[in-house]
Amino acid sequence: MPRDTDLLKSVFGFDAFRPGQAEIVEAVTAGENTLAIMPTGGGKSLCFQLPALIRDGVTVVISPLIALMRDQVRALKAVGVEAGALTSGNTDDETDAVFAAIAEGRLKLLYMAPERLASGGTLNLLKRAGTTLIAVDEAHCVSQWGHDFRPDYLRIGALRRALDVPLAAFTATADAETRDEITEKLFDGTAPRTFLRGFDRPNIHLAFAVKDSPRSQILNFAAARKGQSGIVYSATRAKTETLARALEDAGHTATHYHAGMEAEARREVERRFQQQDGLIVVATVAFGMGIDKPDIRWVAHADLPKSIEAYYQEIGRAGRDGAPADTLTLFGPDDIRLRRSQIDEGLAPEDRRTADHGRLNALLGLAEAQGCRRQALLRYFGEDAAPCGNCDTCDTPPEVFDATIDVMKALSAALRTGESFGAGHLIDVLTGTQTDKIRDRGHDKLPTWGVGQDMPRRQWQAVFRQIMGLDFLRPDPARHGALRVTEKAHPVLRGEDPVTLRRDSIARAKSRPVVRA
Ligand code: ADP
Ligand code: ZN
Repeated sequence: MPRDTDLLKSVFGFDAFRPGQAEIVEAVTAGENTLAIMPTGGGKSLCFQLPALIRDGVTVVISPLIALMRDQVRALKAVGVEAGALTSGNTDDETDAVFAAIAEGRLKLLYMAPERLASGGTLNLLKRAGTTLIAVDEAHCVSQWGHDFRPDYLRIGALRRALDVPLAAFTATADAETRDEITEKLFDGTAPRTFLRGFDRPNIHLAFAVKDSPRSQILNFAAARKGQSGIVYSATRAKTETLARALEDAGHTATHYHAGMEAEARREVERRFQQQDGLIVVATVAFGMGIDKPDIRWVAHADLPKSIEAYYQEIGRAGRDGAPADTLTLFGPDDIRLRRSQIDEGLAPEDRRTADHGRLNALLGLAEAQGCRRQALLRYFGEDAAPCGNCDTCDTPPEVFDATIDVMKALSAALRTGESFGAGHLIDVLTGTQTDKIRDRGHDKLPTWGVGQDMPRRQWQAVFRQIMGLDFLRPDPARHGALRVTEKAHPVLRGEDPVTLRRDSIARAKSRPVVRA
């Protein structure tokens, strides 16, 4: 049987579970009666779709909206999952195809509206189909006091009794009355296993830093936490080994871990980490699944993670015991380039790559956040929160400045040179640097040539990084990462939207010497 994390990647194309998903998937797969309360956009559908693929038989999905059902069925079919819907909007061909898939035992997910349960044939059909799980989307529709009451939702309880299979209910409505009503109407009064954990992990301190001398940044972070168990995530296998050695040289107990190691050696690291206090494991993302150590005190990212989901999952390994835990995530222009090219060079279809860029952008936005970082993170997952007081931007609010003019200069340098160059060349143009490339292309004749002489190179690099984080400039994979001006930048170019940037990373770029790792 494939592992759920393998399917997560191979079928759905996601690197990591979103907050809450892993636990829910596990319980639903195991056949427990469950009620999961997740904010809209939090990723509920995966929590029954993935178990449906792992479990034998058919999962019937009760959903109130035909358009939503059709969207989900289309998306599932596009990734090769046998799914179908029986709705009033079906063509005869669609309905025939669903019945054929049932008859041949191929169907995995069958969507239907609750109204369909009124017809006597439906129960027989679901029995014949080998239904082994009922998933109920928008389960609060069973509540007579809510705005969305759908009388036919009351038939679901009888369906569950008749089929005698587990039921997984999902809703974004968290109030206690609604939950009680769901328990009563869908589960005959026996409380299901309920998942209502907020996504916030308030004991984890969040911090990002611009990568200027990664090795000493990691060494300093570890030195301040000597003797505590920690994980350093690194993007490449080779770097896990060199960083682990550097930590050992600095007097820590450290080892490395990556998927290229023998299974036995990997198990040994896992075992040691679990048992030994104060071990640091420098690892690729291969490390962590199945690690269940409650007292990991810190997690550092020597390189930017792949996506905001991966970031959340990786830092979430710290502080499971609820005691304070620390995190630090380093990021720099090379990380952004690496992650972009990994997405572009991957084999995923176009729309999935676009979504991956979006998830990376979300992480970059978080890295350059001007307000509370936790608030930004939770907002991405659909939760509202007040400024947390436990992140670097709350500790020391970053100073921002109106950078509209600088950003307009940078964008126009990209436009004037035909959106065909990377940041290095554009900075040459802005700072009025003479290079062969500049002369050959006649870029020293452009009106933008030299308009940015008031800022040194390093400072411009920081501006470009923030501009990319804001998604005003995006590297074009078809043209070796040449920076293209995005739609989002148009109002800025027209002078309609002012832009503020963080002063700290720009000021730091000015005062520190260039250090190569
Ligand atoms: P809702 O909870 O509102 O039903 P959906 O199931 O429609 O949310 O998911 C919202 C969005 O989140 C979808 O675009 C989906 O592709 C995306 N999503 C769900 N799970 C993940 C994940 N683990 N990683 C990345 N994106 C995810
Ligand atoms: Zn905060």
